[in-house]
Amino acid sequence: MKKNLKFYLKKALENHFALGAFNFSNLESLQAIVAASLQTNSPAIISVSESALNYMGESFVISLAQAAKEQNPALFLHLDHGKSFEICKKAVDLGFDSVMIDGSALPFEENVCLTKKVADYAHKKGVLVEGELGQIKGIEDNIDIAKSSYTNPEQAAEFVKQTKVDMLAVAIGTSHGVNKFVKTPSLRLDILQQIENILPQTPLVLHGASTVDEKLVETFNNFGGKLDKAQGVSEELLIKAIKEHNIAKINTDSDIRLAFSSEIRKVLSENKKEFDPRKYLGKGREKTEQILSFKMKNVFFCADKK
Ligand SMILES: [Zn+2]
Repeated sequence: MKKNLKFYLKKALENHFALGAFNFSNLESLQAIVAASLQTNSPAIISVSESALNYMGESFVISLAQAAKEQNPALFLHLDHGKSFEICKKAVDLGFDSVMIDGSALPFEENVCLTKKVADYAHKKGVLVEGELGQIKGIEDNIDIAKSSYTNPEQAAEFVKQTKVDMLAVAIGTSHGVNKFVKTPSLRLDILQQIENILPQTPLVLHGASTVDEKLVETFNNFGGKLDKAQGVSEELLIKAIKEHNIAKINTDSDIRLAFSSEIRKVLSENKKEFDPRKYLGKGREKTEQILSFKMKNVFFCADKK
């Protein structure tokens, strides 16, 4: 079987590891993902959101992704949170490996209709599709979702059957951003269990799953930043969701931003005369690579799965 994204999702599901879907928005963050994947011999998904696509520009994204794949052929380009058929079609036409159509804010029938339309188009070109059911709260791509609603397992089965999505993002208590929990962090693993009982072959996706490392927040705040009550999902919970359940793709965005920005704050504060971007962006890249290598090895267990 060709070692494409479908192959690795199946492998992840069968062997209980997760593919990291890592968001990038500049050269250095992508380089950090590539370096970590090479260092740990991991397959990985390189993700861009619609806003990241606009920020970098389509042709830069495609060229950067191509350069990344030349270094590690087990890297796959993914559109994160596509909100319309048009943006998903554009990503498919540009040669992405997979797209997410996020119709989760729509009523069920409309979500089915939109997702199916994207899947029909994408599948004809061999591109995989991720759908979302239930609402994940927090700020994603400048859209603030205040209320979450958990994925309904029966609806999930109906959704996958009708749309034929290749992976399904579930809402089980995670949220986007760095303030994930008001009280004790917890995930509804019981709902996850119900979903996978009905859909044992579907790779499930966890969004809003950054761990928000305390040390990084401390560095960020010690060097002039101000992040209050930052709290992520614990590594233990993520490991449980991967090892004991069917989470086969985990999105990571906030942790990359935090590693990058906290280190840059530190370098610039400690070196007041520094104005060579390579000196501080390079340090941000190094820190991000460290954090991602650790995650791949010890949390996602995708190391040596290439
Ligand atoms: Zn997300």
